[in-house]
Amino acid sequence: MRTPLIAGNWKMNGLGDDARHLATAVAQGVAGLNGVEIAVCPPFVHLDTVRDRVGDALSVGAQNCADAAEGARTGEVSAAMLADLGVRYVILGHSERRQYYGEDDALIAARYAQALEQGLRPILCVGETLEEREADRTESVVASQLNGVIDRLDTSIGLGDGVIAYEPVWAIGTGRTATAQQAQAMHAFIRQTLAARDAGLAERMRLLYGGSMKAANAGELLAEPDIDGGLIGGASLKADDFVAICATA
Ligand code: PGA
Repeated sequence: MRTPLIAGNWKMNGLGDDARHLATAVAQGVAGLNGVEIAVCPPFVHLDTVRDRVGDALSVGAQNCADAAEGARTGEVSAAMLADLGVRYVILGHSERRQYYGEDDALIAARYAQALEQGLRPILCVGETLEEREADRTESVVASQLNGVIDRLDTSIGLGDGVIAYEPVWAIGTGRTATAQQAQAMHAFIRQTLAARDAGLAERMRLLYGGSMKAANAGELLAEPDIDGGLIGGASLKADDFVAICATA
């Protein structure tokens, strides 16, 4: 009953021509696929072009949005600007933003609230580092990232139409994927954590796995009951690879 979502996170890759070609190839490749929702998340500067290229074949997402509605926020892009471009999703709290730009739960929650206010669907990323996993802190870290955002949101709206991506930091861009069992265990844990607040929300919420997901391992991961899709980095930069993952879903 949860429609799978496969989202490509292009990160900071590609110039204009690359974005145009990739968007066109993905849109052509996924034409005719049913029962799966597909999104691509290019850098801000390519959103408009990509939106034009993909038409209705897939959704477009951004990789961040501002924590305020408008005004004096040099370098930021507002959720309203994204919505105005026809953007549907926005990745928030990615581990690279937490690590390189110091984004914390309070800032991520403010960005999340802005996204919801503009009708965007946030993809909230959570996940532990290798050090945290080895210290047996995986569940506590993920619960704290999740609750750190939920507790700061308007209780009447909560996570809204958002999506959660579980991305173990040690699996991102490393070629080292979590096993289907490891990923399923954490997805089940996230769903339980949500259910403790709202059973309906927990049932509805799509939980994506991210971290070196590729065509070769997507089938096994997506077969798990609590894995409702993927957030794909490296493998989303090649149309054939990305389309193969979408076809698996
Ligand atoms: P990866 O990245 O697929 O290259 O590991 C996933 C992500 O960071 O969203």
